[in-house]
Amino acid sequence: MPDTSAPGGAYDVVVVGAGVVGCAVARELAGHTLRVALVEASGDVGDGTSKANTAILHTGFDAVPGSLESALVREGGRRLAAYAEEAGIPVEPLGALLVAWDREQSAALPRLADKAARNGYRATRPVGAAELRAREPRLGPGALGALEVPGESVVCPWTTTLAYATQAVRSGVDLHLNCRVERADPGVPHRLVTRRGVLRARFVVNACGLHADAFDALFGRHDFTVTPRRGQLIVFDAFARGLVRHILLPVPGTLGKGVLVTPTVYGNVMLGPTAEDLDDKTDTGSTAAGLAALRERGRRILPALLDEEVTAVYAGLRAATGTDDYRVTAHPALRYVTVGGIRSTGLTASLAIAAHVLDLLRDIGLGTGPPRPRAPVRMPNLGEAGPRPYRDAERIAGDPAYGSVVCHCERVTRGEIRDALASTIAPSSLDGLRRRTRARGGRCQGFSCGAAVRAMFEEAGP
Ligand SMILES: Cc1cc2nc3c(=O)[nH]c(=O)nc-3n(C[C@H](O)[C@H](O)[C@H](O)COP(=O)(O)OP(=O)(O)OC[C@H]3O[C@@H](n4cnc5c(N)ncnc54)[C@H](O)[C@@H]3O)c2cc1C
Repeated sequence: MPDTSAPGGAYDVVVVGAGVVGCAVARELAGHTLRVALVEASGDVGDGTSKANTAILHTGFDAVPGSLESALVREGGRRLAAYAEEAGIPVEPLGALLVAWDREQSAALPRLADKAARNGYRATRPVGAAELRAREPRLGPGALGALEVPGESVVCPWTTTLAYATQAVRSGVDLHLNCRVERADPGVPHRLVTRRGVLRARFVVNACGLHADAFDALFGRHDFTVTPRRGQLIVFDAFARGLVRHILLPVPGTLGKGVLVTPTVYGNVMLGPTAEDLDDKTDTGSTAAGLAALRERGRRILPALLDEEVTAVYAGLRAATGTDDYRVTAHPALRYVTVGGIRSTGLTASLAIAAHVLDLLRDIGLGTGPPRPRAPVRMPNLGEAGPRPYRDAERIAGDPAYGSVVCHCERVTRGEIRDALASTIAPSSLDGLRRRTRARGGRCQGFSCGAAVRAMFEEAGP
């Protein structure tokens, strides 16, 4: 990267961090005639917290009423549901049941319904023990009742981030990967020193997730500290899918939303997450103790789940900052916006966070001009509930590569892998390819298809 930026001088805005939030902000800015760069330390978009979450499209029913998070989750949920339809992002509107297992939790349900109403969500409904059993026959013994939250859905987090980034890039945003910003010289314009060269920017947005505090320090700000809060999860095989019909939520505790059991859009079932505050922002390892604790909780919720095969375990790190709210702040003198503390709802809120950031940038002097149409985007479907190429006879007749299954566990075809490798933002690793196709993500974890998938990846080249 040369010591310059966009043609004709500095970028209007540089967004640092290409997680779901940074990609959403870049996409939002792409709706105006601006020179925008999206800069990411990793070799792919969505490679941080955004790739490892529980993938719920929340209603915001349990947020802190009156908080910024409450407003942005509610609005973001609506926006993402509509965008998903337009862009082909898999969503399944399963609804959630917040299950009470003792008298104390039972007593908390009306308070949660009241909190939901104060968050603008009025569709909750109490469910008695008999109805609960009828609707979730495999639930463990002892459930006293539930609060139904019909608006909760499951969504594909990988496609969401990629759709935002793809649309941003197709609409003219420059994406710089493998490009960690290591130093900032605030000024007019700001100079951002990256390991690949220098970028100049009139305005900067910090969407650095777990590293938002460290990035703030480059601009002389020390407003909060990010503590990584690890969430370990267990993914059960697709054979478990018949055991559960709703998202089964626990009654929330002090460390967050607690352990849930949820179907995924890929057709398997997830149990988790834990909530452990750590010091190390890279520690996404799983632990024997964490997994044992999850299994114990899961056995109570859905005993038969524990007899199913485990497909994968993983962990993600939430960005905790000591308050129950996001830390989104505009610094007018610096022409700089910090989007920090995007905790356990950032996927849901992403589009609303982006709209909010655009407003803040305008408030501190960014002229955006009138809106302009963004390039359209339609993502390949990764969801089990939608049309998959391997069972689409017409598509296979038009292109036999869609009838040639490479990954048999997830039924991913040669045509899908080929398309992903040639896409606007091509994967830089086999894991990136998995997030775009599901290849190597099934019960054999690549044991059977790994060599064939790798051969296609290597043939496509960097
Ligand atoms: C276990 C778990 C469960 C969750 N469940 C849900 C859920 O069900 N629903 C929901 O809505 N949300 C959920 N979330 C929250 C959601 O995943 C996060 O809020 C969201 O992914 C945060 O996105 P982000 O873009 O802020 O951060 P990230 O995805 O971490 O992106 C930040 C990016 O900035 C980059 N970066 C950092 N420093 C620099 C630098 N100096 N230069 C360049 N790049 C840099 C990083 O490499 C990274 O890619 C969950 C989170 C976890 C951990």
